[in-house]
Amino acid sequence: MEKTLILLKPCTVQRRLIGEVINRIERKGLRIVGLKMMQLDDAILNEHYAHLTERPFFPWLVSSMKSAPVVAMCVEGNSAVTVVRNIVGATNGRKAAPGTIRGDYSMSGQENIIHASDSIESAEIEMKRFFREGEIFEYPDPLHDFMYAPD
Ligand code: GDP
Ligand code: MG
Repeated sequence: MEKTLILLKPCTVQRRLIGEVINRIERKGLRIVGLKMMQLDDAILNEHYAHLTERPFFPWLVSSMKSAPVVAMCVEGNSAVTVVRNIVGATNGRKAAPGTIRGDYSMSGQENIIHASDSIESAEIEMKRFFREGEIFEYPDPLHDFMYAPD
């Protein structure tokens, strides 16, 4: 089982799409093991988007990510990192494939609904960035065998 970190961005909170996006993630079969609303600040955003500090849009990105709370989620499933990135779609909502979350809900390169970790390594780092010990839960999964027959 793999875990990955998801943020529902301020645009998603403002557009009242929290439930709709969570529904798509759950329907796929991923399990929510951590969930909370958070107000992000410069410190956490500079760290989270460190790979983008030199880009011209960085100040807009930080300001947008601080403009309202986000919903932080940790979800679990087989190959969860790749599965979630596939459901999320390409970065720019106008280029993301229909059927993906960004492809279905976003018209923007920046206001693109959702963040998802891009590798197992970043998922480990990002889960620690947004969740404290005790905020990620382990609980039995009685549906496991219905979700995962051997490949
Ligand atoms: P992601 O992993 O698909 O979210 O993409 P990146 O890690 O490359 O970028 C992080 C976030 O920065 C994206 O989700 C967008 O919100 C924003 N972003 C990326 N590229 C652009 C861009 O060209 N213009 C603007 N305005 N925002 C961007
Ligand atoms: Mg990224």
